[in-house]
Amino acid sequence: MAELSQKMKELVQPYLASIEPYDPNFTPTSINLSANENTYPVPEGVREAVDAALAATPLNRYPDPMSNDLRDELAAWHGVPREMVCAGNGGDELLYNFLLAFGGRGRTLLNCPPCFSEYAFFASLVETGVHDVWRDPKTFELDCAAVLEAAPSCDLAIVTSPNNPTGDVAPLDFIGKLCEACPGMVMVDEAYIEFADASFGAKTTAQGLIEKYSNIVILHTLSKAFGAAGARCGYVIAAPEVIDVFAAIRQIYSVNVLTQAAALAAVRARDAYAPVVAQVAAERERVKTALEALAAKGLPVEVWPSFGNFLLVRTAHATRVRERLRDEYSILVRDFSYAPGLADCLRITVGTPAENDAVLSALAVLVKEEM
Ligand SMILES: *Cc1c(COP(=O)(O)O)cnc(C)c1O
Repeated sequence: MAELSQKMKELVQPYLASIEPYDPNFTPTSINLSANENTYPVPEGVREAVDAALAATPLNRYPDPMSNDLRDELAAWHGVPREMVCAGNGGDELLYNFLLAFGGRGRTLLNCPPCFSEYAFFASLVETGVHDVWRDPKTFELDCAAVLEAAPSCDLAIVTSPNNPTGDVAPLDFIGKLCEACPGMVMVDEAYIEFADASFGAKTTAQGLIEKYSNIVILHTLSKAFGAAGARCGYVIAAPEVIDVFAAIRQIYSVNVLTQAAALAAVRARDAYAPVVAQVAAERERVKTALEALAAKGLPVEVWPSFGNFLLVRTAHATRVRERLRDEYSILVRDFSYAPGLADCLRITVGTPAENDAVLSALAVLVKEEM
């Protein structure tokens, strides 16, 4: 990977000298199942509503700093007062602000890898130490006992539910215990929670714990179930005093007028997304079953249960399989084989039935040829 020039290494803050310029390694392909986006058509009428909202938005005025119209709609949806919601420029901005506000030099983030790599990255940007409590290397389940044991000596924690890239859901009683054991803030990253709700047919969010634990923050995004990754909108739900912190430190205009308008229209139309989310969850099970059938034939394929819109798949020579998927089939999936604990793992986003058929038939060939 690239590194900073010698001159820049001397000019940046010393702790940033070894940072690597971001290399997304992006290749245009005809099927992109690499970023957990929603690849389904926008539900009927929603695109029109979004376009009308965008067309009616003046660009000469600064945005409402707190996105209050959007905030009210999100608050109504989640059954909380506006004071418990803060929107951001994608979930990523809110994650960064979480680390900026509650982490910092001399403090330690409790992290449960393999998980979203941005947590450790944002921690490094604000000089926050990271205490990793690794998941079970075979099942990827959280080591709940070890997490709870580590929590008292950490300053803040992030738990992902469903977890990216392993797909599992964190038990709510465990999250409650973590809120008790951790002296600081606990973020529950629910970027994929809509797919879990569709899988369980029930509300799986940890939001109900806010009443009991004032140190919990729930993170959401419109990038996954709502298919609005390009619009850059996420939000947190927490006790009003916690939201005050997010409101105080944020860049005041980070959620631009177009994002606020588009997000509001999309969230108003939230019921229209339910069938899409249910179909993604059903497709995920179909793809998983098909992959398990390859394993049953003696091919080197392992797949884990997932409650998100993606599957983690282990196969022999995964990096090679991923390259051939890209170069010979024009299908892009994410290679995690470089990541600690994820040797030979690929993460495949669940797409439309046609996209899933394409990736399945390509894998059936490649997995055999590369074994
Ligand atoms: C995608 C994702 C997010 C947020 O993404 P944004 O596009 O920045 O809203 C947060 N956490 C996890 C685990 C994710 O996969």
